[in-house]
Amino acid sequence: MSTHLPLRTCSGCGGVFVKRDLLRIARSPQGDLSLDLAGKKPGRGFYLCRRQLCLERALKNRNFEKKIGTRLPEELLMQLRESIKNGQEVEPCRRNESMN
Ligand SMILES: [Zn+2]
Repeated sequence: MSTHLPLRTCSGCGGVFVKRDLLRIARSPQGDLSLDLAGKKPGRGFYLCRRQLCLERALKNRNFEKKIGTRLPEELLMQLRESIKNGQEVEPCRRNESMN
């Protein structure tokens, strides 16, 4: 397994993934939230693997609010859902054993 790729944790399942496989939601220094498909926008961000389940779990657990201090706007949620629906599920490098 190559270890030089950047790894990030999914906010839904807690699994560890190669960064480029995840969806990134970025919060700009101005406080704007956006879907960051290239993974290059500045500011704080959090990550989701491409599973509907993870999005729903992160919403239910208020993981977004905890991480970025605000709720996701409806428009962004719709973009996320679309991306998940149109994308392929990705396999984690490492699963979080405490959260299935
Ligand atoms: Zn996940």
